[in-house]
Amino acid sequence: MKIETIAIHAGNKIDEFSKAVIQPISLSTTFQRAEDLSYPQGYIYTRMDNPNRKSLENVIAKLEHGADACAFSSGNAAAAAFFQSLGAGAHIIAPDDMYHGLRNQILQVFEGILNVDFVDMSDLKAVKDLIRLETRAIWLETPSNPLLKICDIKALVQIAKPYNIKVVCDNTFSTPVFQSPLSLGCDFVMHSTTKYLSGHSDVLGGVLVTGEINPHWEKIRAIQVLAGAVPSPFDCYMTVRGIKTLPYRMRGHNENAMQIADFLNKSPLVERVFYPGLETHPGHEIARQQMSSFGGMLSFQVKGGAAEALKVVNNLQIITQATSLGGVESLVEHRASVEGPATRTPQNLLRVSIGIENVTDLIQDLENALHSIS
Ligand code: PLP
Repeated sequence: MKIETIAIHAGNKIDEFSKAVIQPISLSTTFQRAEDLSYPQGYIYTRMDNPNRKSLENVIAKLEHGADACAFSSGNAAAAAFFQSLGAGAHIIAPDDMYHGLRNQILQVFEGILNVDFVDMSDLKAVKDLIRLETRAIWLETPSNPLLKICDIKALVQIAKPYNIKVVCDNTFSTPVFQSPLSLGCDFVMHSTTKYLSGHSDVLGGVLVTGEINPHWEKIRAIQVLAGAVPSPFDCYMTVRGIKTLPYRMRGHNENAMQIADFLNKSPLVERVFYPGLETHPGHEIARQQMSSFGGMLSFQVKGGAAEALKVVNNLQIITQATSLGGVESLVEHRASVEGPATRTPQNLLRVSIGIENVTDLIQDLENALHSIS
């Protein structure tokens, strides 16, 4: 089956009882046990499994060409389950540009438990030099948040394999529509399903997907069930519903982002545009090889500093100032002020989640806002 068909059918089950075409939401936390003490449908208790969670895990595993998936209550909860699975004393290598909430999770929640080195993942020699006996995982995020840096997934997998180091890719920005990390050799994929997968900025969620069922995966499943950061049946239903239109939405995000990146690249009021679809982007060649398209996220630096960047934001009428990304509506964010004083993000940088509104309206909105600093 092709991706559009998987997105619609792999997370849905016609209801046996009512023949409802759309799978109902199973709110029950508990399931009847039979006389012989078995559980006829395999469901026992909703923290352990639930029909809506199973459907969500099925569809995401299929979209990512994986063997199985574990759904969590947020992207950060999914990542935390992976880091917990490594055990105390493990060393991990993570990108110097990555979602700051996950960087902070590694540094604050796993302080004293994990040792981490942050590195520019496009410098393969630097990554290799960091490997030591206790290195258990390389965490990738490509394109990265917020600088849209690209790393070479295949090359990094080749570096990790001889040492039995697990490679995990946060595929939130690309989605399975444009990039398939498991097919490129990664062991696991992680998503914040809060973003493109659910697609409407109205449900939090996260997921880990595995390429194969093995003891490490069984440990992750145990952490999901026993640590218990699971999504509610309603949240699973909402995410499955969003995924049905994912391939079509991604085409719209991608087409709009390409045109807007071109527009911004030509604007005399813009210093630099970060979008892997631009030939001038340092990661463009690798992105072209490992992604089928470049996605809907871009960042740009306006001419000037924080004051000019914020002036642009405040003059936008359609593009809303808000955090998060991946919804149908366009959002803009001054990342440096969101990330706080320790930020490494340039003060004049704006990150835009390009929505699927009409692209002419979005370009007009940006053009008007940029004029405020001319
Ligand atoms: N990964 C990336 C790339 C993100 O952008 C985010 C959230 O912004 C996360 C992970 C965390 O996801 P959540 O907010 O669902 O916990």
